[in-house]
Amino acid sequence: MSDVSAIKKVCVIGAGVMGAGIAAQVANAGIPVLLLDIVRDPADRDAVAKGAVARMLKTDPAPFMSAAAAKLVETGNIEDHLGRIAECDWVVEAIIERIDLKQDLYAKIEAVRRPGTAISSNTSTIPLDHLIAGRSEEFARDFLITHFFNPPRYMRLIEIVTGPKSDPALVARVEAFVDRAMGKTIVRAKDTPGFIANRIGTFWIQSGLNAAFDLGVTVEEADAIAGKPMGVPKTGIFALVDLVGVDLMPNLQKSLTSTLAPDDPYQAIAKASPLIEKMIADGYTGRKGKGGFYRLNRDGGGKRKEAIDLATGAYREAITVQPPRADLATLVATNAYAWAVLGPTLAYAASLVPSAADDLVAIDEAMKLGYNWKWGPFELIDKIGAARLAALMTEKGVPVPPLIALAGDRSFYRVEGTKQQYLGLDGAYHDVAVPEGVIRFEDLKRGQQPLLKNGSAALWDIGDGVVALEFTGKMNALDGEVMKIIGKAIPLVQASYKALIVYNDGTNFSAGANLGLALFALNIAAWGEVEKLVAGGQQAYKALKYAPFPVVSAPFGMAIGGGCEILLNSDAIQAHAETYTGLVEVGVGLIPGWGGCGEMIERWMENPALPKGPMPAPSKVFEIVSTATVSKSAAQARDYGFLRPSDGITMNRDRLLADTKAKALSLVDGYQPPKPPEFRLPGESGRVGMKMAAESFHKRGLATDYDLVVSDALAGVLTGGPADLVDVVTEKDMLKLEREAFMLRVRDPRTLARIETMLETGKPLRN
Ligand code: NAD
Repeated sequence: MSDVSAIKKVCVIGAGVMGAGIAAQVANAGIPVLLLDIVRDPADRDAVAKGAVARMLKTDPAPFMSAAAAKLVETGNIEDHLGRIAECDWVVEAIIERIDLKQDLYAKIEAVRRPGTAISSNTSTIPLDHLIAGRSEEFARDFLITHFFNPPRYMRLIEIVTGPKSDPALVARVEAFVDRAMGKTIVRAKDTPGFIANRIGTFWIQSGLNAAFDLGVTVEEADAIAGKPMGVPKTGIFALVDLVGVDLMPNLQKSLTSTLAPDDPYQAIAKASPLIEKMIADGYTGRKGKGGFYRLNRDGGGKRKEAIDLATGAYREAITVQPPRADLATLVATNAYAWAVLGPTLAYAASLVPSAADDLVAIDEAMKLGYNWKWGPFELIDKIGAARLAALMTEKGVPVPPLIALAGDRSFYRVEGTKQQYLGLDGAYHDVAVPEGVIRFEDLKRGQQPLLKNGSAALWDIGDGVVALEFTGKMNALDGEVMKIIGKAIPLVQASYKALIVYNDGTNFSAGANLGLALFALNIAAWGEVEKLVAGGQQAYKALKYAPFPVVSAPFGMAIGGGCEILLNSDAIQAHAETYTGLVEVGVGLIPGWGGCGEMIERWMENPALPKGPMPAPSKVFEIVSTATVSKSAAQARDYGFLRPSDGITMNRDRLLADTKAKALSLVDGYQPPKPPEFRLPGESGRVGMKMAAESFHKRGLATDYDLVVSDALAGVLTGGPADLVDVVTEKDMLKLEREAFMLRVRDPRTLARIETMLETGKPLRN
């Protein structure tokens, strides 16, 4: 693969929804970016781009991963600053979807650009050869389509389309950058209208809308059927349209019907809907407007969820519909709506190989990453059975696409030895390709038995002397079983391996200690058991810290409570850029009990930005932990001190395992376990200071009575307990303080109430 550092500066033209978001993601990668838009206000010629950045700073979820990233965006306008694209290695065009405006802009770009600067369009629908009509050979060589999804930071898919003249080396440079620096998963698409994801997604949405009208199904029933049972987010179809904007539908329809071939199956289903037109005209454009197919009715003060009656267009109280429980094959065979939304969509998807995508894997990837489907169309077909689906299609009058006929009674995917394979158009199975440098955990696991395994964790040999510790419990929660595996892993790795990593492929790294288990122990007042769990966790984590080999943890998604403390007790962290980590124990009336307090103080004592002395580090940690602060990115986790400057951040989730393994191996030569820290802490006077800070929060109504009690317990640990200023507090002392404070809080009924509420509602109880 091409060198990612070939792109040192980027220009994004068009500071709308997409352009601004793309610029932010370039900045998140640490690369300076020039964001240009038109001049709308002669008095402030850069106002459009400036306004876009200002808006992004207020957007939640945030487009920027850190304050530092936001500073990398420079704003300007295309009249005064277009010449500056000569400074850039890549120009992304993300202006409105109008071919005349895009072509006009390219002519201007061609006049000022440096040859070899990559130019790409973020168009959703316009074919590449139309875009470059009238441009030179050189321009065509340096041009490609990079189709990001909204919002660019959070959607992992990018579709890349090249033309016959595109320079492969230049394309490789852009691909290396969007993959490694911007963290996107690349799906190569052919130059056809709507590319892959939107082509299928639009067909699927339209099928779902039409069928609900035709079959007289309510929007709630429709979303219950087309959601969870099909591995689709619970928004299903109608709530999804509300989310993306009801007004987007006619636009998408128009652009696809005008560019797709007249005999494309989409043409037959793309109907105008009088109800949707009326909704748009009345301002019911979805969540951004007055509401959509669903709305929250605030009349009379309350908040009632309502849904539209598709027959009359009137709102009525929303009903709760449970998703059907039948397996997918039965569901599509027996439920008319399920068939109408899925059957034709699967047929359509299967008809697009090879015209829109080289192979079926690209189609599955595009739908999973671009529409958040759990399974791609061909994985769905495998669940139903290709032969069974073909029979159903015949029965329902849907022509069976050649690819489905080709499968016969075979599946589209199979496992051959340790390899995952897919069915090619030649009727033979081929290995699913993995991008260069990517290691997939599932591939590694396929060929072997775990070294160790119990109900909550497993240990795997991942090659080159590295062992991976995997959490396997619900939400990757941590319990005594995990600690047992850690205990056994240490002599095992020491005897026969070089390094240990903590990695898994869940949605979240770990939700922390298993609260359900804790609650059970508390309810039967099994204090001994609880204390054992606390002490056992401390022991296991410290054994990891002082093991005679490197330990590297690889967080992603949520890594909270005990899931954060295992990071803190590792030699190094290799975090996915989207890591949400923090010590959230106070939310359930507890304090960090697995070494988190001392580890955080140690990290802040190392921080050169903080004044020396006993008070600054504990105060900083108190500020972060007493408010249960969770980072909103790995970059922010570094700002909070959860990550050290030497810890790594991986932008592309697909590359986290390979990067973590490499980091672990890089630490092997000459490895020395860390020296146990010694603390000089402020003692009682520091605790009083923290108490005053907490009381001011309490006075302002920002902390409850019990918050004061819990934060005082935390302050007691962070300040070193009753020790005198001159005493050295060892790590062992800190662990003992943690245990004692934890055990006091855990016996308090107000803690019990917090844990119960957290388990029932997922939200903290403010008692
Ligand atoms: P938008 O309307 O939010 O923003 C377009 C921006 O382009 C505006 O700020 C406008 O002032 C600016 N602009 C218009 N003409 C210009 C010109 N000649 N020079 C410079 N700036 C100009 O649009 P958007 O949703 O961000 O879409 C931008 C592109 O991305 C389109 O091609 C669209 O098809 C594509 N796209 C959109 C989405 C999405 O979900 N919105 C997703 C993928 C791709």
